[in-house]
Amino acid sequence: MKVIKIGGSIQKDEKDYELILDKLKKEIDYNDKNIIVTSAIKNITNQLLDIIKNTDKAMDIVTDIYDRHVRLLSKLTNGIEFERSFGEISKLADELFKIAWSVRVLDEVTPRVKDYILSFGERFAVILLSAFLRSNNIQSSYILDPPLITDENFGEANVLLQQSKENLTKKIDGINGNVIVIPGFIGKSTQNKFTTIGRGGSDYTATIVGKILGAKEVKLITEVPGIMTADPKKIPQAKTIPRLALEEAIELSQLGAKKLHPRTFDPIFNTNLKVVIEGLYEEGSTVIEGNCTKDDILKGIATRNNLELITIESTNIVGKIGSAATIMSEARNANVNLIAISQPVSETVIQLVIESQDKDRLIERLNNLNNLIEDIQSRKVSAISIVGCGLRNKEISAKVINKASSLDPIFISRGLKGVSLTFIVDEKDENSLAKELHEVILEWQTK
Ligand code: ASP
Ligand code: MG
Repeated sequence: MKVIKIGGSIQKDEKDYELILDKLKKEIDYNDKNIIVTSAIKNITNQLLDIIKNTDKAMDIVTDIYDRHVRLLSKLTNGIEFERSFGEISKLADELFKIAWSVRVLDEVTPRVKDYILSFGERFAVILLSAFLRSNNIQSSYILDPPLITDENFGEANVLLQQSKENLTKKIDGINGNVIVIPGFIGKSTQNKFTTIGRGGSDYTATIVGKILGAKEVKLITEVPGIMTADPKKIPQAKTIPRLALEEAIELSQLGAKKLHPRTFDPIFNTNLKVVIEGLYEEGSTVIEGNCTKDDILKGIATRNNLELITIESTNIVGKIGSAATIMSEARNANVNLIAISQPVSETVIQLVIESQDKDRLIERLNNLNNLIEDIQSRKVSAISIVGCGLRNKEISAKVINKASSLDPIFISRGLKGVSLTFIVDEKDENSLAKELHEVILEWQTK
């Protein structure tokens, strides 16, 4: 069993599909089953979201989405395949038109309806990709109804592994061919409602499918050749990372590298699954397999900005059981995600890092705790994380911390199994620290 995921940003025109065909010709193993997971084609998920945001333009947006798919279909398929798939795409588009109309009239969308609308992107893409493959002599079948079964946490649904395994296996067993295209990102709840598993979720679909079917390899074909040591837009010296241990991959994706769904690599835990991230346009790949080895030293950095550091000072909170919990529950009640937390042993200060957009909401709540808190300050900060199994080695982490110390980090924390270090620094120091740390990575790589 092999799982191959084709990204959405690499499905925009005929040229892309030619490259996809070349890739798949190399990848498909005809002695085995090949599951091809597809995302919605480029930008369609955003357009579907626009239906909800600009309800007065809903019908125009659907028309545009439909036209784009039909135009691509006519370029990518032969006569027979066009006929067949045109009917399928039109049928789906009809359904989407009806929903868009009701959204326009009602001017209101529930999370369930939002996921239903989003489900069309991947479903259109499945029909298109499969028809394209058949027009090019790859006998592809497809599964349009999402094979993954989830709970009803719309927008961020959790996949029910056992039920998904049964459902997918049954569907695959009913198909004769060896190449099967399925939708990424979307699922069906046990109540038969469409769900989605979070933006960028198609990679996550692919790793889940790999796990539940016991695949040897999952290949993620994307725009960029693998995961890079840093964001090349910010650090031009950034390079593809050839190998990541699982712990490193999980930390990097959680930290937002390459905009991967944060749970992409979770399914690999306790399996022998190998994940390869490969570019469509350029040579280069990142292999993710197994746990930390002695050759895994420093791999990459990830930065997060638009953050706010909230510093809460008070002698009233010292030694008082529940004071931290009270502060944290205010964050929960204000629906504010805590990105980092720190408290010294003296217990006189609690520092929270949150997204800037949440600042006013949280401070307003904290101000109500005036019998507990004496002073609340805020300032703009960035989080720079460095990832590598080598950080568990004293000599290497000392070197990294030493470099960072010149920029006076506000606090430092360690990530999963000690393979990442995050520095919270003043916003203005973000670029300098990122550059410094990136240099340390490159230095160790050439040792
Ligand atoms: N189409 C979905 C998105 O844009 C899922 C994906 O691309 O992986 O988020
Ligand atoms: Mg995508």
